[in-house]
Amino acid sequence: MFDDLTELYHQLLLDHNKSPRNFRVLPDANRIAQGTNPICGDNYTIYAKMDGDVVQELTFQGSGCAISKASASLLTESLKGKTRAEVKAMFDKVRDLITTGHSDGDLGKVAALSGVHKFPARVKCALLPWHAVAAAVEGRGETVSTESEKE
Ligand code: ZN
Repeated sequence: MFDDLTELYHQLLLDHNKSPRNFRVLPDANRIAQGTNPICGDNYTIYAKMDGDVVQELTFQGSGCAISKASASLLTESLKGKTRAEVKAMFDKVRDLITTGHSDGDLGKVAALSGVHKFPARVKCALLPWHAVAAAVEGRGETVSTESEKE
């Protein structure tokens, strides 16, 4: 059972890397943030269209490794329609998932990232798009770098 699940997650990540969802510029975005991971060379721009407190549309552009791209793709799919508070709550859960392999609550497809914690060098790659979207949704139109994390 566990092996089946691992295989399923592996396939899901491969699929999201090969065919990333919402991989485009969003011309009417009203929140934009950059995320860079100099160690790996991941570099993404997250585009969000917020209507008040709600994420109406979420897209991304850029390049990087398979893990960062699959993570960004899963992120854009899972956060659309969420409020700012829900995005923050999701970010905290996903950070737990990526760093420990466990998280409270149902993360849906994002659970595919649960294996990343076994590869410490890839944790920053998987987290990068989530840092960027948190910055975008909070209106901090800044560049987020994995090398300036205070956590
Ligand atoms: Zn990477």
